[in-house]
Amino acid sequence: MIKKFLCAPGPTAVPAEILSEMSKPLMHHRTPQFSNVVAENAALLKQVFQTKNTVLTLTSSGTGAMEASVTNFLSKGDKMLVLSAGKFGERFSEIGKAYGANVVEIKADYSKDIKASEVEKALKENPDTKAVYSEYSETSTGVAFDIKNIASVVKKTEAIFVVDGITAIGAMEFKMDEWGIDIAIAGAQKSFMIPPGLAFISFSEKAEKMMKSANMPRFYFDLAKEKKNLEKNTTAWTPAITLFMGLNYALKMMLEEGLDNVVQRHFRVGEAFRNSIKSIGLSLFADIPNVQPSDAVTAVKVPEGIDGAKLPGLMRDRYGVTIAGGQGSMKGKIFRLGHLGYVDKSDIVVELQAMELAFKELGYKFELGASVAAAQKYILEKFPIPNVELSEAGD
Ligand SMILES: *Cc1c(COP(=O)(O)O)cnc(C)c1O
Repeated sequence: MIKKFLCAPGPTAVPAEILSEMSKPLMHHRTPQFSNVVAENAALLKQVFQTKNTVLTLTSSGTGAMEASVTNFLSKGDKMLVLSAGKFGERFSEIGKAYGANVVEIKADYSKDIKASEVEKALKENPDTKAVYSEYSETSTGVAFDIKNIASVVKKTEAIFVVDGITAIGAMEFKMDEWGIDIAIAGAQKSFMIPPGLAFISFSEKAEKMMKSANMPRFYFDLAKEKKNLEKNTTAWTPAITLFMGLNYALKMMLEEGLDNVVQRHFRVGEAFRNSIKSIGLSLFADIPNVQPSDAVTAVKVPEGIDGAKLPGLMRDRYGVTIAGGQGSMKGKIFRLGHLGYVDKSDIVVELQAMELAFKELGYKFELGASVAAAQKYILEKFPIPNVELSEAGD
């Protein structure tokens, strides 16, 4: 037997309590019992998004909510400004093009981000921009965009600001209302600790006004229809009932821990990874210090002369640890250590030891155990000691 650890930047590991919750007998979705779950989830999601706006739950993967953020707010030919420095930013452009938007991109190399000043300049050159689309945590590169500052620039214009917060919301600080974000998107299988199949989307009053005149074709992802249904504590279509149950449990876990603590935990785990990999001569893909790293995923450069495309497979098949490789042109050049959702200090060591053993097999020269030792040192120094009563010796 090889014990398995799911350490990808999505889907992420699901706690046993949540799996157990989801294995209960199925309830029907048009019942008062399920309506209670819908209502409670909606209220708890508002807390996670830090918003007074409605947060809708769609039965789809995250991309469904990304698509909805285009089709529900724009009309054919509308100008959308996309900040693109990775695979997920590119996805916004692809969706816009598929639906006939006039897509204008600000592009930067993978490993970089787009600065608020560049957005300001682009908005001056394109005063007819209807919406600005940005990643928060660009999962393909491990870079966190400075969405707080970008929001303050977009806020001064007629345009709405759309943030793909999948992998970020529920892992990194996020204040939808305070920062002035018009549309925020999150996904179940990332920091929400449940299997794939739900996406979350919230929109401001400014965005809702645009929705009234937007005429792009839409049917399944009709947010006005979903919002009307949510007001009656139900959903437009048959929802992924089981996932709604799991989500309910997960949201309570997150809010019981406290959002600040959730964010701190992700920060510490992320920083431990970033510090530890250096001790065996590895470096981050993110263009530090010109960008901020994501606390949800660490993209690492494959060292010179090593066949990096083999690393994720070796870690998975020999040691049971699933991480992610590079996407597209980054394949073989980087690998991505996921650390979001149901993660804590021990996960750092689990991933690093498997990474080291796989690197040994690939012929990379370094001192075995060095990154693990660095992680342990970080854990000892930086992680708070849990406030629990220790049991008597012998227990
Ligand atoms: C995972 C992810 C998505 C959505 O992907 P799905 O496979 O459709 O769930 C979008 N954006 C980011 C940043 C992601 O990490």
